[in-house]
Amino acid sequence: QFYKSRGQHILKNPLVVQSIVQKAGLKSTDIVLEIGPGTGNLTVKLLEVAKKVIAVELDPRMVLELQRRVQGTPQANHLQIIQGDVLKTELPYFDVCVANIPYQISSPLTFKLLSHRPLFRAAVIMFQKEFAMRLVAKPADPLYCRLSVNTQLLARVDHLLKVGKNNFRPPPKVDSSVVRIEPRNPLPPVSFKEWDGLVRLCFNRKNKTLGSIFRQKNVVQLVERNRKAVMANEDGMDVDDDGSKCQTKEMLLEILEKGKYLDKRSSKLTQDDFLTLLASFNKAGVHFS
Ligand code: SAM
Repeated sequence: QFYKSRGQHILKNPLVVQSIVQKAGLKSTDIVLEIGPGTGNLTVKLLEVAKKVIAVELDPRMVLELQRRVQGTPQANHLQIIQGDVLKTELPYFDVCVANIPYQISSPLTFKLLSHRPLFRAAVIMFQKEFAMRLVAKPADPLYCRLSVNTQLLARVDHLLKVGKNNFRPPPKVDSSVVRIEPRNPLPPVSFKEWDGLVRLCFNRKNKTLGSIFRQKNVVQLVERNRKAVMANEDGMDVDDDGSKCQTKEMLLEILEKGKYLDKRSSKLTQDDFLTLLASFNKAGVHFS
């Protein structure tokens, strides 16, 4: 149970380790961030090619084991171990992140990395296969979802390698995939909160048309609330209720109609579609955060 709760599945196949390191495209000047080094199978290979590895490990016993493994070798000077929960740790500067992570932190870790500054060059990460497939899914793919749209706003994501469960000890219940995440630089000029607010609404019912999503009472109410909050902020006073729900709904539908979005479904919308849609909503004073 102790191992399970920390997702401690050690990667045993040296060919897979080698392949991950190779695909990371490391330079001899790179500082590498590794998350969850465990007993260090990946770490020692990273140390062979990078200038420095900074490894964040939660389990003190693993930290000890890794320290022992490099002790007295020339590599020891190039390894820094931070003991702690990566989600609660302030990340240092790094060029590339390479990690075989515990799968339960996949989503928060991905967004923690993508909000890290300065932007890093790439992250090569082992995820549970299903999560990886959602990260890379494109419009019209059945797995295309809020996670795909949000990640692909901030980064290019490519599937690199499938890894079967038997490459790990103990073998996990699920298969894995290695994904490359390359932050977009520069990032698209949009507020991520606004973007995520819109995308969340759209993917709550991803196979409905946008017309039917924006006719829903709770969606109209949410837009109405945000609109009032923005106006109250701008004017420094409360807004009375003259902008009725009915008007708001009509306005939303009009914006959708103008952009020819009424009959479209979120599951088929591209990044550009979402960007254009958000811009036209914002222009009309409609906000999602
Ligand atoms: N990288 C090693 C390998 O490939 O053999 C071990 C991978 S194992 C799937 C995940 C590792 O992450 C374990 O060593 C575990 O202790 C560590 N870990 C779990 N939760 C963590 C967290 N929140 N922050 C940092 N490390 C964590």
